[in-house]
Amino acid sequence: MVESRLMKNVCAKRLVVVGGVAGGASAAARARRLCENCEITVFERGPHVSFANCGLPYFVGGEIAEPDRLLVQTPESLHARFNLDVRVRTEVIAIDRARRQVKVCELSSGREYEQPYDALVLSTGATPLVPPIPGIDRPGHFVVRNIPDVEGIMAWIKDCRACRAVVVGGGYIGLEMAEQLKRRGLTVTVVEALPQVMSPLDPEMAAWLHGELRANGIELHLGDAVAAFEPPVADESARASVVILKSGKRLPADLVVLGLGVRPETGLAKSAGLEIGALGGIRVNEHLQTSDPNIRAVGDAIEVRNAVTGAWSLVPLAGPANRQGRIAAENLLGRPSRYEGTWGTAILRLFGLTAGCTGANEKCLRQAGMPCQAIHLHPNSHAGYYPGAEPIAMKVLFAPDTGKLLGAQALGRDGVDKRIDVLATALKAAMTVHDLAQLELAYAPPYGSAKDPVNLAGMIASNVLAGDMPLAQWHEIAQFNPDITVVLDVRNPDERAKGFIPGSVHIPLPQLRARCGELPRDREIVVHCLSGQRSYYACRILAQKGFRVRNLTGSYRTWKTAVGEQ
Ligand code: FAD
Repeated sequence: MVESRLMKNVCAKRLVVVGGVAGGASAAARARRLCENCEITVFERGPHVSFANCGLPYFVGGEIAEPDRLLVQTPESLHARFNLDVRVRTEVIAIDRARRQVKVCELSSGREYEQPYDALVLSTGATPLVPPIPGIDRPGHFVVRNIPDVEGIMAWIKDCRACRAVVVGGGYIGLEMAEQLKRRGLTVTVVEALPQVMSPLDPEMAAWLHGELRANGIELHLGDAVAAFEPPVADESARASVVILKSGKRLPADLVVLGLGVRPETGLAKSAGLEIGALGGIRVNEHLQTSDPNIRAVGDAIEVRNAVTGAWSLVPLAGPANRQGRIAAENLLGRPSRYEGTWGTAILRLFGLTAGCTGANEKCLRQAGMPCQAIHLHPNSHAGYYPGAEPIAMKVLFAPDTGKLLGAQALGRDGVDKRIDVLATALKAAMTVHDLAQLELAYAPPYGSAKDPVNLAGMIASNVLAGDMPLAQWHEIAQFNPDITVVLDVRNPDERAKGFIPGSVHIPLPQLRARCGELPRDREIVVHCLSGQRSYYACRILAQKGFRVRNLTGSYRTWKTAVGEQ
């Protein structure tokens, strides 16, 4: 039944795809799987199709040794497997919507010709941002987008015997490049204009990455934008540039990597008169149809709905691009399917640390005017008694009225990936924190705990919703007036000896019942321990004795990292 409907709709359609990497290759391959009769042509400006741009940093660092490993498919393999007509080094330079033709240019010969289509898919990707900073186009400066870019970086390092790299921009590409350049033996400095790296994380979570960068010998300059790139003077030595920061600092660099973000590549769509959204991406509907019903667009080039806030957003990630490619092809070939939005689920390895996030962060929820409650926790990656357990710093955001999950962030040395993926699945399923508490997750000591970190997050959040545990946040500490609020530390004396929150009162938990008379009844008590668990027990004791209490969520670990690693 489905097959016959498909066949009816698709016979002999001419499908043209612009861009042959993540979204474009997915769309073309899916289209072929649905229809053997279509004529499918893929135009790719670059020399490679379907290459692993996500693997590029690891090629620079040598973890991926052979460039061929980055070539997931070639024009020949795509032809052999999917009967696709893939034309590399061929740029689509115009779309004639009225005549349903694209004009293309063979870059090697300069020959131009027209190619007709019944349906067109644009997957033109995004272009690295190169803002007009004086000197930005000096030799030895590189963006990281494709294989020729990283081959250029590697040749430059070898030819100039580069020793010092400055990475401008602390997004995931900048950080992966910093890690991999360090692995190659270069001295690496990261410069970021914002006060934190990895903007999808909230600041107290990004602070863990700052610590990891510094611990691995990366010099980090936060909140200090680049003012100019200049040639070295006097006794300075820099084979690329001296990077001048707004603060006046001068950073000599043999290599400069620009990881300043990307913007959707929409030149073709704009000149064809397709609707462009306020953020600069191609506007599509939920079937990934542009303002021209014969043209679909996917990937980094489009604006997507944030699946949590509903706001239009730009989310340049490979998972969404691949899903969208598949959905666009299905819609073209008589199998209506919806793109439900993007959750921004992402993961980064930085030296020994993994950082993951899914859904909305607190900054984004506040901007969208959506009320949210945040909890922080530091559960072990697996049973604490089994060797090798590592703490995971987790932040979970949920709606204070319904408990609906809104977003999550996690960092740690073990077990982050699976918690983020479970939470991403929970978000897609529109689960509440009560559902998280009820999830039955696989457990044996080497893998998890009988109460998995995801269960624990659900239980803690459920306690908050039940009114059992009012919370204080790490950033409130700096504003507390001691006449109104007392900060109580219930850790053991040996833990307190290693550091404490200035002005806090110390009563170890085992002594609390006996010594609670020392606490003022006319002031609010904000209790903390190391991670928030013992302080929860303390809060329950004090609340039942009539004190006004709040638990410092994430406790000393979150506060210390947030204030210490800015
Ligand atoms: P692309 O894959 O960029 O493909 C667009 C293609 O269109 C380009 O090859 C371009 O040459 C071609 N093109 C553009 N205009 C024309 C034209 N007019 N004619 C012909 N061809 C044209 N995402 C993750 O989720 N996880 C990661 O770990 C990750 N790591 C990354 C690391 C790096 C270094 C980079 C650069 C990206 C990374 N990404 C990662 C992002 C991910 O690669 C992109 O989101 C994804 O490739 C987007 O797919 P796309 O099809 O929209 O664009």
